[in-house]
Amino acid sequence: EDDLPQPVLVPKDKLLSDLLPTGFDENSCLSRYQSLLYRKETPRKASPYLISKLRNYESLHKKCGPHTKLYNQTVQDLKSGRSSHASECKYIVWVSFSGLGNRILTLASTFLYALLTNRVLLVDPGVDIPELFCEPFPEASWLLPKDFPLTNKFKSFNQKSNESYGNMLKSKNNLTELPYVYLHLVHDYDDEDKLFFCNQDQIFLQKTPFLIMKTDNYFVPSLFLIPSFEQELNDLFPDKETVFHFLGRYLFHPTNSVWGLISRYYQAYLSNADVKVGIQIRVFDTGPGPFKHVLDQILACTMNENILPTIDQKPFIITSSEKKKKTIAVLMTSLSSGYFEEVRNLYWENPTVSGEWIGVYQPSHEEYQQTEKQNHNRKAWAEMYLLSFSDKLVTSSWSTFGYVAQGLGGLKPWILYKPENGTAPDPACRRAMSMEPCFHAPPFYDCKMKRGVDTGALVPHVKHCEDMSWGLKLV
Ligand code: GDP
Repeated sequence: EDDLPQPVLVPKDKLLSDLLPTGFDENSCLSRYQSLLYRKETPRKASPYLISKLRNYESLHKKCGPHTKLYNQTVQDLKSGRSSHASECKYIVWVSFSGLGNRILTLASTFLYALLTNRVLLVDPGVDIPELFCEPFPEASWLLPKDFPLTNKFKSFNQKSNESYGNMLKSKNNLTELPYVYLHLVHDYDDEDKLFFCNQDQIFLQKTPFLIMKTDNYFVPSLFLIPSFEQELNDLFPDKETVFHFLGRYLFHPTNSVWGLISRYYQAYLSNADVKVGIQIRVFDTGPGPFKHVLDQILACTMNENILPTIDQKPFIITSSEKKKKTIAVLMTSLSSGYFEEVRNLYWENPTVSGEWIGVYQPSHEEYQQTEKQNHNRKAWAEMYLLSFSDKLVTSSWSTFGYVAQGLGGLKPWILYKPENGTAPDPACRRAMSMEPCFHAPPFYDCKMKRGVDTGALVPHVKHCEDMSWGLKLV
């Protein structure tokens, strides 16, 4: 009897009020529906327009996706250098680049750009994308086929590449006949590359059958400043701080192997707690750590903001064990284990004033970033996802790892300010204005006036970030 296939436990609103499409085999990607069982129901709903846009996208993807007749034809034209500007299907290829948090944010940004420009998104699998994420679109893969003719160029594409949009503008080539354009939106991009964010440049790029995008930034906030996208974005996202929240929940479903890491950890350590607190520690200082000023900052933030209970200074307090006390599970993530050990010991060695039981847990301490190691990124993805189940979340400045957790969770985190010169800032943290990620390297250019402008002061819903004064985020 044990060999019979077991029914999959599925929540009531498994399609997230129709954000997700039907037609998937539930066992092939358990997280797609089961993750909802771990989440509080969110009051936010995707707009009907976003939902219909996604259904239309899915049929476009099916029509033009890998190995379809139309795909083969367009790729054939690309190979032979024929111009195929009349092609029914146009593509944007996302190149796998940078840390996992960055990649999740850039993939969501690129997908939104595909929606806005009626392009088909194709995903460079890199070393690990298929191990980490289920296919999001029904009936057609999002993975770029192995024999795509430009794949061997992806690694070498950079700010200096002749094929980049910025360098084409500089060399004044005849841009209209090109079978593909490389879009360099990496943080080191230059003024010409940044013209990507101008209306007239978007009009030109419309014609190119293949765009190849390499970026390490969440560039969505600047799409909201392009006049030709404005109305559409308004209709898609009446609630502007939900862009990554909905696109992320639509696109990113952990594969069964990652879901195993997530669900085993959740059930064993987190599910029984009354309150779940997530603390994401990312220290960009060089040197081994752990640093005392970072620990002080974590404690100052969590206690001042009533995220964790304060310690009772009176020793030898005996709390009666008769009444059931509230339990708090604290999930910490960090490359090192030092902060976790200190916080855990603090709540073991001391009682809290109000008598809660505090369990402190950290799934891994990988010591340093290892971008190409597979199990490493499986754990990183699992930890971002686990953090997203928190009731309250504390994140580190500048970290895309934390942005992913807050966005998927629909959480406004408390952001720990970036320490300067080895000292904990005062105040230690502040509550985020919105759950959106920060665009770290936005352009500051007024395309119409052809001069510099503060792009964080143009419209009320695009503001400078809490954790990076020159960054932009949607609020
Ligand atoms: P960012 O550098 O903080 O913006 O985040 P990224 O995810 O882009 O890159 C950092 C990488 O370092 C992650 O992808 C992980 O591989 C690793 N890393 C950083 N912090 C953690 C952590 O708390 N847990 C684990 N497992 N890995 C981490």
